[in-house]
Amino acid sequence: MRDEVPVAIVGAGPVGMTLALCLARWGVPCVVLERSPVPRRVGSRAICQQRDVLDTWDALGAGTLWREGVTWSVGRTYVGDREVRCVRLARLGASPLPAFVTISQSRVEAVLEGLVAKEPTVVVRRGFEVRTLVPDDDGVTLRGDEGELRAAWVVLAAGAHAEALRDAIGVRFEGERHPDRFLICDIKVDLPGLAGERRFWFDPAWNPGRQVLMHAQPDGVFRIDWQVPAEFDLEAARRSGGLDELIRHVVGEQPYELVWASVYRFQSSLADRFVAGLPSALAGSTAASTTSRTWPGSSRRSSGGRLQPRSLGPTTRSGGRPRCTT
Ligand SMILES: Cc1cc2nc3c(=O)[nH]c(=O)nc-3n(C[C@H](O)[C@H](O)[C@H](O)COP(=O)(O)OP(=O)(O)OC[C@H]3O[C@@H](n4cnc5c(N)ncnc54)[C@H](O)[C@@H]3O)c2cc1C
Repeated sequence: MRDEVPVAIVGAGPVGMTLALCLARWGVPCVVLERSPVPRRVGSRAICQQRDVLDTWDALGAGTLWREGVTWSVGRTYVGDREVRCVRLARLGASPLPAFVTISQSRVEAVLEGLVAKEPTVVVRRGFEVRTLVPDDDGVTLRGDEGELRAAWVVLAAGAHAEALRDAIGVRFEGERHPDRFLICDIKVDLPGLAGERRFWFDPAWNPGRQVLMHAQPDGVFRIDWQVPAEFDLEAARRSGGLDELIRHVVGEQPYELVWASVYRFQSSLADRFVAGLPSALAGSTAASTTSRTWPGSSRRSSGGRLQPRSLGPTTRSGGRPRCTT
């Protein structure tokens, strides 16, 4: 079967869904092709959303996302066992929206997908993996095992690993990957007073030479990221009790529920073009993959993938617990 549409979007992640909602507002029909037959509702993944994104979602009818999300106002940084910096974030500007919130990507996808389902000009075809793209002078043909679609434009919102599709339109995607990996856990636990704080540890005794990051999500769930060696084996750590030991270093003796755990490798890569000539464009992590952490900088200061916390030296010399600065 060969359909004709003004815009085809490859990928029903948060970026593809947001674009579909924008096109619907502008009266442009589109088809979203998604290889996964069912929505994946797992894990926090892209957890921190800043104001311009919240503003877009608000305008598209997804204001619930910034209302549900949580925000922190105190950021504490530790080197070894010492707190070296404390920053209190002021609420700046006249916007009713917070500067950022944390909310799980699963929840974002569920809300956006619910809105997309109400749009008569958006068709979502799940279970359709686009295998090839053939651009020509008037448009582009998308082919998969499930059929063929012809569109005036295609937007690739297929995630960072869409090499085959980028190659098909001649786009290069270059950058760097950190040798270490990150163990990422969503943990439901009662940690009184910590919901309003972000904590960042460099070189703690319980993760020497590496970093750990913690911040809260809605519903009493905390997200904790540990920098771990490349050979870290999550399933082995579950079996041996090593995972519990890592979690206990952060949450103490409190009872906790492990909601989700995964291991992730950061990459910072950028497409050499976002618009690859008519009729194709790239969006989201197909176009740019980076980390919101301090870590590209850390990476440059690193040696064999391990952090060099001495780069925070000037603040460590102050001694004692730092006062929170604004
Ligand atoms: C464990 C983990 C932790 C993460 N932590 C963070 C974090 O802390 N902060 C952060 O900003 N980001 C994080 N990310 C990355 C985050 O998930 C991405 O930034 C985000 O998903 C990008 O959204 P997107 O819509 O561009 O792409 P995606 O969400 O990747 O969506 C792409 C969609 O395209 C579909 N697709 C791919 N190829 C095809 C094809 N050929 N045909 C049809 N469909 C296709 C995929 O199935 C997918 O649904 C994390 C990811 C993981 C896995």
